[in-house]
Amino acid sequence: MKIKQKLKEYILEKEQKFIKHYFCCYCNRFISLINTHLEHFLPRDFFKNQQFSYSNIFVSCNDKKTCGHFKENKETSILNPSKDIFADYLEYKISDNGIEIVSKNNLGLKYKKICEDTIKILNLNERRLVNYRMNLYIQHVRKKVPFDYAEIHPILMNFLKKLQE
Ligand SMILES: [Zn+2]
Repeated sequence: MKIKQKLKEYILEKEQKFIKHYFCCYCNRFISLINTHLEHFLPRDFFKNQQFSYSNIFVSCNDKKTCGHFKENKETSILNPSKDIFADYLEYKISDNGIEIVSKNNLGLKYKKICEDTIKILNLNERRLVNYRMNLYIQHVRKKVPFDYAEIHPILMNFLKKLQE
């Protein structure tokens, strides 16, 4: 257990940190070390040789309805946080439902499918996640409360800032 915690801390420090804040490898919400999930991108059950591979291990949020927990042991082709920059393929979109994640328009069929699978398998448009983004919009764009760098990942913050203009 202690080793697992150390490993999480190491990965968060090296790979998943913005200013002083750790973020989930999939949904980008800020997370605290104690409430996280050690995520094997390629599931341990099917890829024994990847179990200890550094590029296969991430830290995700501990939300049971999204991200690492929701993905479980699904063996599938989705965007890989160690190889793909999610922001190259996915973007935010504001609608009546809230702020959702969608695939970018300029992608070919193959990547369009990968993006759709990524959103579905990680459940990136789960109700609370959509509401979380929308609440930040209401707070910082509509009510004009200054942006809080301790609260929002820069990709989402940039999107919200564009809505301000
Ligand atoms: Zn997450």
